Amino acid sequence: MKFLISKEFKFDAAHNLTRYKGKCERLHGHTYRLKVTLTGDIGQDDMVLDFGDIKEVVNRLVISKLDHAYLNEFIDNPTAENIAIWVWNQLKDILQGPNYRLYSVTVWETESSYVELIGD
Ligand SMILES: [Zn+2]
Repeated sequence: MKFLISKEFKFDAAHNLTRYKGKCERLHGHTYRLKVTLTGDIGQDDMVLDFGDIKEVVNRLVISKLDHAYLNEFIDNPTAENIAIWVWNQLKDILQGPNYRLYSVTVWETESSYVELIGD
């Protein structure tokens, strides 16, 4: 059986879109929501992966860097799509084990607007 398991996070960050004509080209902020989803089988402990392990990895490698940051300093033209790619690249090699791997990264820019990146 295949499972999808997910954990959600929030972070506040500033950005401006450098290749965009409109109000988002000006400096502003969002409270972003992030969902990290793994796919896998049940392991020896009857879990795909402990939610606490996902929390520790994502907080250490992603949230600690993005929260209260100016995203343009390390993500070129930080659209929700480009943020999702950056998050994927931070996590893909770490959130990988014998019975699981990273499946998708979802970034909400507002309550109703989000992108979901399904990685390879
Ligand atoms: Zn924006």
